[in-house]
Amino acid sequence: MEERVLAAVRTGPGRTELREFPMPEIPEDGGLLKVEVAGICGTDVKMYAKPPFDDLVIMGHENVGVIAKAGPEFVERQGVKEGDRVFVEHYVPCFRCEWCRAGEYRHCEATDWRTNPHARRYGYTSAENPFHLWGGFAQYVYLPWNAVIHKVPTNVSPELAGIVTPLSNGIEWALFDAGVGYNSTVLVQGPGQQGLSQVVACKQAGASLIIVTGTSRDTARLRLAKTLGADHVIDVHKEDPLQRVMEITGGKGVDVVLDCTAGAGVAPVLLGIDALKRRGGTLLVQGEMDVFPDFPIKKVTEKAITVKSARGHSYRACELALEQLASKRFPLDLLTTHTFGLKDVDLAIRSVGGEGDESVIHVSLLPWKEDAE
Ligand SMILES: [Zn+2]
Ligand SMILES: [Zn+2]
Repeated sequence: MEERVLAAVRTGPGRTELREFPMPEIPEDGGLLKVEVAGICGTDVKMYAKPPFDDLVIMGHENVGVIAKAGPEFVERQGVKEGDRVFVEHYVPCFRCEWCRAGEYRHCEATDWRTNPHARRYGYTSAENPFHLWGGFAQYVYLPWNAVIHKVPTNVSPELAGIVTPLSNGIEWALFDAGVGYNSTVLVQGPGQQGLSQVVACKQAGASLIIVTGTSRDTARLRLAKTLGADHVIDVHKEDPLQRVMEITGGKGVDVVLDCTAGAGVAPVLLGIDALKRRGGTLLVQGEMDVFPDFPIKKVTEKAITVKSARGHSYRACELALEQLASKRFPLDLLTTHTFGLKDVDLAIRSVGGEGDESVIHVSLLPWKEDAE
């Protein structure tokens, strides 16, 4: 009998169905990942509510598992073998364009679904494409020759490895993009898995002041921010965040502002611009509003603010994140709060979106888990 693979498929906005796909024939240069953990993030919440296209998609772009099958050319090229535990980046780049050659394959058009309808990217690519298994909310994921794979250190559990993506974003955005380092002062807006990961990256890099904002819903998350090294936390529902930042910094403002909020509109950017130091601060943005009425461009110009866009992670950031996890220097297991099985993908995504349990920080989808929690 033909072997089948069970997957949770997005069939429309906010709709998921369990479907079976044929087990792919693995070519000489391909492999197969048995998925242990597929991390869920705020992007999934957005993509689930408003899919960018109508095709059937197996979501899940933060994938950890064990190599179940590997063709000989795949083994040769990738340096991994059957039985190895790996983290697979969601990018599936071409490795021959200028971005790939520069090592910045996250910008490769072969993996950019926004501009290329034929792009390959885990969690975004249509399941109607060859090999079908292009997302982690499934028992298995197909690995082509150009999958980007990192070995997971033996002392890092699959669930802990599930936070490599937010942590690598933390390293990329705070350290590489915004230049946080020794003695930097930082405002992190939003204490979700992404904001908390920024706290860890900033702390490890030597920041002397880390302030984290959140809302009254975030009480537990703000407490965890302090556990992970934040110096001050601000509940923006209870206090004026700008006034607090200025009090804390003696009226100076901060060197760097990192926006890790979700769906907060223009407010984090406006606060960021005002909370930055008098001149030369850096503002990392990830707002996706189409328009920004009354954008204070004059302030940005006069304060000589550098605006950076949060756009994924590099190979090095992922390797550093895995090393950070392996070091056990920070209690990052406190982030991995919830797990769900394949039949509860809908509930899992909604939990990340803030429907229900307020203690949710990072949610792991475990495709082989039997029952719901
Ligand atoms: Zn993500
Ligand atoms: Zn490329």
